[in-house]
Amino acid sequence: MFPFEHLVVIWIVASIIQKVSKIKISRLGWALLFFGALLPDVDYLFVWISNSPIHRTFTHSFVFVILGFFVSYFILKQYKLEKESIFFSIGIFSHVILDMFIFPGLMLFWPIGTLFSFYGLTNLFVMPVVTIGTLHLYVKWLLFDIVLGVVWLSYLYFKGKINF
Ligand SMILES: [Zn+2]
Repeated sequence: MFPFEHLVVIWIVASIIQKVSKIKISRLGWALLFFGALLPDVDYLFVWISNSPIHRTFTHSFVFVILGFFVSYFILKQYKLEKESIFFSIGIFSHVILDMFIFPGLMLFWPIGTLFSFYGLTNLFVMPVVTIGTLHLYVKWLLFDIVLGVVWLSYLYFKGKINF
């Protein structure tokens, strides 16, 4: 999934949770949700640098969700904001769940190599072969992502929630 899809989904889910539970999510909480929702794809950097097939492994696992909680907990504890760290984990977890819609899935229980997706399990970890067809599909998704981002930012702008 592309960045804006992750951001829009976590925004919708958190807004619903906020309405239903009547908990007011702080600005820091929102920032942590968004940052957490984007962070797992940081593994692309390591793929580009090392050219090794590590995308959707460690950073897309329960280990990373839990590690993210503890790291943010100990950092935020310095400022007595440790309760906010749960939002960071929720953000990461939302990314993981969304990516499970894309075959062949991800290593949910990394370092165990089985890939989990909503379409089933597989033990084959194959780097996707880039063809004209897959590039075409990527470009379509990217355009969808851009449109989604523009719609979302426009909505926030017209609601007066952001100013340029
Ligand atoms: Zn991802």
